[in-house]
Amino acid sequence: MRNQHECGSVVKVFNQKLQMEGFQMTLKEKYDVVIVGSGPAGAGAAKALSGSGLDILVVERQKMPRYKMCSGIVFPSSRKFIEENFGEIPRDIMCTPEIIKGNRVFVTNEDPVLEVSFDAFDAGEDSAGEGFNTWRSDLDQWLISQSDAAVADDCSFESFQKSGDEYQIQVNHRKTSKPVTCRYIIGADGTLSRVRKTLYPDFNQSIVRIPNYEEIYTGTIELDPGWLYLFMDRSVTGYFATIFHKDDKIAVVTGVNEKESVKEYFKVFKTHLLKNHGLQIKETYATHGIVLTDMSAQKNYCLGDANVLLSGEAAGFLRGGEGITSSLASGYAAGKAVVESEQSGKPAIDYYLDLAADELKACETVHATLTEVMGYNVFMRP
Ligand SMILES: Cc1cc2nc3c(=O)[nH]c(=O)nc-3n(C[C@H](O)[C@H](O)[C@H](O)COP(=O)(O)OP(=O)(O)OC[C@H]3O[C@@H](n4cnc5c(N)ncnc54)[C@H](O)[C@@H]3O)c2cc1C
Repeated sequence: MRNQHECGSVVKVFNQKLQMEGFQMTLKEKYDVVIVGSGPAGAGAAKALSGSGLDILVVERQKMPRYKMCSGIVFPSSRKFIEENFGEIPRDIMCTPEIIKGNRVFVTNEDPVLEVSFDAFDAGEDSAGEGFNTWRSDLDQWLISQSDAAVADDCSFESFQKSGDEYQIQVNHRKTSKPVTCRYIIGADGTLSRVRKTLYPDFNQSIVRIPNYEEIYTGTIELDPGWLYLFMDRSVTGYFATIFHKDDKIAVVTGVNEKESVKEYFKVFKTHLLKNHGLQIKETYATHGIVLTDMSAQKNYCLGDANVLLSGEAAGFLRGGEGITSSLASGYAAGKAVVESEQSGKPAIDYYLDLAADELKACETVHATLTEVMGYNVFMRP
């Protein structure tokens, strides 16, 4: 059993990727901007800062290309954002089936399947159409390589301290720790952001964590691979369970309230699939866990302060269950806010609040649409 998708297709070498063997020598002491996290939010920020003349470092905790637990479907709104700001998505980062037609939802186990097109996740971009199927490791590696930022993988941000107009950051690479100074920090480090925790140590008390667990199989199931399946019946999930196909693999996921046992729910869901959807497992290829939060559904956003900005899921951005668009767009807004701040000398947060306003509204619009279609907000289940 492997615990990571082995990425074979993309693997572009970053132009400025640091040689980690010489970590102490090659990581500079000072950067203008440090972006924490190399997911879509980090890539959006790095792209917006490209060509600004600022010295940018992205630190990524995992070794790249890194596995990100996600259906990996590039919804039409993300496709549009990527095509406009990054260029055409290379075919070699897609997996099969390349096209995903939309969502098929079992509101209860007994109900007939409900088809929900990707239009429900469109917040006015007029981006109707189909989704692209990708492994996130490939997609994210390609996105981050489209900027002129230096990327240090296998390097984790630990904390920061303010010192005059600068921030002193502690970066760890395996057992080595190094201080790095910068003038701006963009926290793009996902749901349980350490940047957010450093800035607001008590913030996590205001959120509900939604642990998700995934098993990836080789085998077969009687569900059309060209759709993303959602199951909402309370017997198989605390919130929603999903099934999607990637190449010859079938991924099965369920998510629960933090007070419930995700593995217990998973067992019930798996039995349901074995009995009712013809799941036949040849081999369990990988297992993963991740945490979602209710921040976006509750409009409990956390955008940062002064020259420390939070973007993507670290800030709470999520359009229902779709997060690639929101993370790219909010990361991009954070990058642009830094550029504006450099020119005026005003804090970056002053610009970010304006630049991110459209994406906040988009999240709200999509949550409202999905609530109408599904009958309730799947992130706010009692
Ligand atoms: C089961 C599931 C299915 C989903 N399916 C879809 C889908 O099909 N389409 C879609 O659009 N969205 C989907 N989403 C949502 C989407 O995955 C997220 O919204 C999106 O990845 C958030 O992007 P981000 O850049 O904010 O964070 P992430 O993609 O989580 O990236 C954060 C990065 O920060 C790094 N990091 C964390 N802490 C540190 C640290 N201390 N130092 C350095 N680096 C750090 C992490 O390793 C990670 O690489 C799904 C989510 C889940 C859980």
